[in-house]
Amino acid sequence: MRLSRSLVPTLKQTPAEAQISSHRLMLRAGLVRQTASGIYAWLPLGLRVLNAISAIVRAEQNAAGAQEMLMPTLQTADLWRESGRYDAYGPEMLRIRDRHERDLVYGPTNEEMITDLARQSIQSYRELPQTLYHIQWKFRDEMRPRFGVMRGREFLMKDAYSFDLDYAGAVNSYRRMMLAYMRIFQRLGIRAIPMLADTGPIGGDLSHEFIILAPTGESQVFYDAALEQLDYLRSSYAYDSPADLANFHDLINTYYAATEEKHDQARWATVAQASRREGRGIEVGQIFYFGQKYSKPMGFSVAGPGGRPIVPEMGSYGIGVSRLVGAIIEASHDDAGIIWPESVAPFRAALLNLRAGDAACDAVCEDVYGRHPGAMLLDDRDERAGAKFADADLLGLPWQIIVGPRGAAAGRVEVKRRATGERAELSVHDALAKVF
Ligand code: ATP
Ligand code: MG
Repeated sequence: MRLSRSLVPTLKQTPAEAQISSHRLMLRAGLVRQTASGIYAWLPLGLRVLNAISAIVRAEQNAAGAQEMLMPTLQTADLWRESGRYDAYGPEMLRIRDRHERDLVYGPTNEEMITDLARQSIQSYRELPQTLYHIQWKFRDEMRPRFGVMRGREFLMKDAYSFDLDYAGAVNSYRRMMLAYMRIFQRLGIRAIPMLADTGPIGGDLSHEFIILAPTGESQVFYDAALEQLDYLRSSYAYDSPADLANFHDLINTYYAATEEKHDQARWATVAQASRREGRGIEVGQIFYFGQKYSKPMGFSVAGPGGRPIVPEMGSYGIGVSRLVGAIIEASHDDAGIIWPESVAPFRAALLNLRAGDAACDAVCEDVYGRHPGAMLLDDRDERAGAKFADADLLGLPWQIIVGPRGAAAGRVEVKRRATGERAELSVHDALAKVF
């Protein structure tokens, strides 16, 4: 992408309305713009990050055997009346009336809709278990939208739903999704800690929140640092092995982790002093096992082996895809700007032409850019070198390839690693080998 022809409206000044680093940086780096309270437009660079996160979420959901689908944002109120949540959900739910005076809601979550779809299409116990998911915009009319995309009103969520024939099956599905979550967060370059949680308006019996530490987090959390060291990507737990999933779950449960609502001083005291981690946390995902909470009132049953009806056991599993953009920045930035983990960076490298118009600089830049045009952001603007350096650090791409007139004439460029600040002057060939 050529910066001279792109909508990347970087800001030098800190926008007054932004209270936390990630919000400030998302505005300053031109990733998003607010269009109404708690509602954001995703500009080209921001959308690339959102898509990169979605791709990782999708790949790991598919690997875990979940099937992608897409449910609409608008739902009929009747579905919510069937489950009893139409009145219970409260003012966070956006209620709409169409021209025929029918009540609709802009979906804050999809338990009712997926249960309705399942009851229409799944008849026999032979068709279960199944897990379905989608990545779709949600609306919750939050009382206090704040911190940018971290607590918006319209936000992108991945939500999955599992259907099993019995409790043991449902717990297995729950554990499988938990393993997928740990792998997703690790691939995103963040350490999210699973913590036993209250179930809130989704309801049910068993729930975990996935929380990352950040000073601006909304709840106090406590956990054993050993949980930061576990490597779920290299572990050999197989998604289709209930024994592996039970071992994985046991491993997680070995270590203490709790939000303030569930905090247990006596157990906390048994964690070695040096391993105690305590601070503010941001929830990036939550999973629920809630049994027949929706299948029963909504009349969803399948024919069992002898024809006897079985009411499926369900769970639901959310990840805040748009919140993650902010959460990743909270966890990875410095005074100069964002430091993107490689897995979600909008581009792998920034290519800085320090003197656009200089024949040698232009030739080297076009040559380098032409080799990986999809992976580079070429700063070919007519700007001072200082402004280009500042914007490159602000945008936070993992690598910078810096092309100045003196080096270019000798076929050399400078390569800078954004995370460490480490620099090296190299031939064009060696620079490309280092970055790609
Ligand atoms: P919170 O406690 O932060 O309000 P929640 O528990 O109500 O969130 P869930 O129903 O568990 O949210 O939704 C699943 C995920 O969706 C959350 O873990 C979070 O990452 C994301 N999410 C929820 N509300 C918002 C919001 N207002 N803005 C952005 N992301 C959100
Ligand atoms: Mg939650």
